[in-house]
This record gives sequence, C-alpha cells and structure tokens, in this order.
Amino acid sequence: MHYTTHPERGDSLLTLAEFARFIGILQTPINQRQRHGDLKMVSIKVAINGFGTIGKRVADAIDAQEDMEVSGVTKTGPSFGCELAIKKGFPLYCTFDDEDMIEQFSKQGYPCSGGLSALLAISDVVVDCAPGKLGAENIEKYQSAGIKYIFQGGEKHELTGLSYSSSANHMENMNAKGSRVVSCNTTGLSRTLVPLFEHCGSLKVECTMIRRAADPGDSGKGPINAIKPVLKVPSHHGPDVMTVKPEIEINSLAVAVPTTIMHVHSIVADLPADHGLTTESILQMWADTPRVIIMNGAEDRIPTTAEVMEMARDIGRKWGDLHEIFIWEDGVKLIGDRLYYFQAIHQESDVIPENVDCIRALMGVEEDWRKTVAKTDASISRYYSSLS
Ligand code: NAD
Repeated sequence: MHYTTHPERGDSLLTLAEFARFIGILQTPINQRQRHGDLKMVSIKVAINGFGTIGKRVADAIDAQEDMEVSGVTKTGPSFGCELAIKKGFPLYCTFDDEDMIEQFSKQGYPCSGGLSALLAISDVVVDCAPGKLGAENIEKYQSAGIKYIFQGGEKHELTGLSYSSSANHMENMNAKGSRVVSCNTTGLSRTLVPLFEHCGSLKVECTMIRRAADPGDSGKGPINAIKPVLKVPSHHGPDVMTVKPEIEINSLAVAVPTTIMHVHSIVADLPADHGLTTESILQMWADTPRVIIMNGAEDRIPTTAEVMEMARDIGRKWGDLHEIFIWEDGVKLIGDRLYYFQAIHQESDVIPENVDCIRALMGVEEDWRKTVAKTDASISRYYSSLS
C-alpha cells in the first residue's frame, strides 16, 4: 500500500476518497457508479464554478471533508486567483468551453484541464459561486450535464424553486436536483430565529440589516462616506427567510454603511403569549444551537464588529473567517412578549459550511441536519488546526 502525505492536512494517511481513487473506482461520477451498483462508500465529486470570495472558501470546506472532494474549480481567465487553486492542488478549468479562452491559461503559465463542460462531466454536483444573477444562464449548463447544482443567495429563490438553510429545511432538500443556499444575512436570521420558532410555534419579526458596504477584496462598491438606505421596502433579506421557514412572519429594512467587515442585524421578535421563555433561557437556547457564538460585549471587551473580527482571526481559520453568528449577550432583552437583540454576521463565511450540508442533502447521504452540521464543522476545525 502506498501512503502519501496530504498537501494541506499534512497527515500521513490516505483518506477514504484518496484510497478509493487509488484503487480506481472513483473515476466516474456517483450517478453512473450507482447505476453500476459497485459502490458502498462514496466520495462526492464537487465542481466549484466561480473561484472568487465564496468559491475559494467553499473549495477549502469541501477539501476538509472525508466524504467529498473538489473535482475542479473554474476561473474566467488567468488571474492571481489561479495561483491559489494551483497551490491547493485543485484542478483548474476555464468557466467557458471556448478553446481560445482555455489556451489563455497555459499562455500565462497556469495548467488548465479544459472548459466547464469537461469539469461537469466528471462531477456529481456543482456549487455555483458566480456573481449573482448569472444563474439563469448557468442552470441550463448544469441541467444538460445531468448533475446536481447549488446556487448562492445572489440568485432568486424562483431559479431553483427550493432554498436551503441547515437548521431550517435540510430534510426538504434531501435528494433534490438543485437548491439555493440563502444569502449570508438570511442564513444569519435563520440560525437564531428557527430555534425560537421551533420552541414558540409562531413568530413575528421586524429587523433592520445594517450591511457592510463591500467585501474587503472589493474595489468597486460603496458607500465610503454615507449611510445608504435600501429604498425597496421591505428589503428582500427578511422575507427570504420564508423560503426556508415559511411559518415565520418576517419583514426587514436594510441600510449599507461604510465598513467592510461584518453585517449587524437589529431584531425585534414578537413571541406568542404562552412562550414561557426568559432572556436567560433564550440565551441558553442559542448557546445550544450549532454555529452561534454568544459573548458579553462589556465583560469580554468585545463591544464592536472590529473586536469580533479580531477574535475570529484568533480562531485560526483561513481569511479570518467566522462561520458562526455572533450575539452580544448584553444586547439581548425580552420585555413582555417582545424580544430585542443584535447579531453580527461575517458575510464572506457564514454560508460556507451550509454549502457542505446542502451537498449532503442533495446527494441524499445524511438526513439529520445536526449530524451533517457536526460532521462539517469537525472536519473544518481539524483541517485548519492541522495548518496552524
Ligand atoms: P466574487 O465576485 O467574489 O466571485 C465570483 C467569481 O465568479 C469570480 O471569480 C468571477 O470571475 C467568476 N465568474 C464571473 N462570471 C462567471 C460565470 N459566468 N460563471 C462562473 N463564474 C463566473 O463573488 P462572490 O462574493 O463570491 O459571490 C458569489 C455568490 O455568492 C453571489 O451569488 C453572491 O451574492 C453570493 N454571496 C456572496 C457573499 C459575500 O459576502 N461575498 C455572501 C453570501 C453569498
């Protein structure tokens, strides 16, 4: 048996996926292998179409899992992002099938394995991480390749007719052909509102999204010296929660502010009269919820998003990511039946583990949302701790 050292994890054992690849049964996508009935343990081959802010993070999160692997990532043309793909050992493909565009990569010194069609042909599922609103064009390519697909929150729910948030509707997504992981804001709302709803049986919510103006890597967005209200009322963020948990009544307003590091939500939730909760029991409920962190702004000296991001960098995930939703304990108060709270969202990363869970739902490999969440998070944690 030939054992090798994994380039990122640095361990000395082959994963199941690597072992299976070694003995040669994983050269074809799962749908074909299942037809041949020759598979018990599978490694899901995941294509990443669009290797930008979200795509590079999803690729890492997939690479961390034992039951899936990155079959390839696409770039539209040679650029600095290709270096990262190559360094990580992710096969690089061109977003398009045009031979001239594919050739541009090798001219700039980046080995390119072909166009998108070639990548889709060797994959079980594609995670579309293209800029929003390209979905209508891309979905046709995925459907004609006959593989499963996941879009991001920049696309509308109507594109797939199905959306995803791990705690809200994992089961509904089991074995579906395609889905859409809701946006970073909607993921954040869903993380803290779903457990409240599950306890109360009904919930009415009004919230304001205080949104970062741009991601740290963006140079073309703003404002840089203004507060910009979203003059479409309600904003799409709150109502989007109802695509994954329709029973929650929710509306939202949104403003963009000159910061790049997080969104903050200011939330007012009306609970039904018989809720039986206290501020303390609500905090305990969230403490028991995966991917939620609660700290005390005053006592822990973490009063703003700047300190939250500093704490995230201490955790040691790449890019200083914070997959968890952050709640300030001292910013939570239940007054009568009305709950007030603030939460902060790391916009570039809270949706990343949800994409992994969504793959397991679409591929029908794990029914229990808590089990997939635990598996995803433990693998990501191992992956990055082995790097530090
Ligand atoms: P990005 O601009 O950082 O990355 C997009 C990548 O896709 C780039 O590398 C771009 O070159 C490539 N691309 C361009 N045209 C393409 C095409 N036709 N097909 C495939 N790839 C193409 O964008 P992003 O921030 O990663 O956003 C991707 C999606 O994730 C969007 O739907 C966005 O709304 C959503 N999202 C973004 C954030 C965030 O904070 N950045 C958070 C949650 C969800």
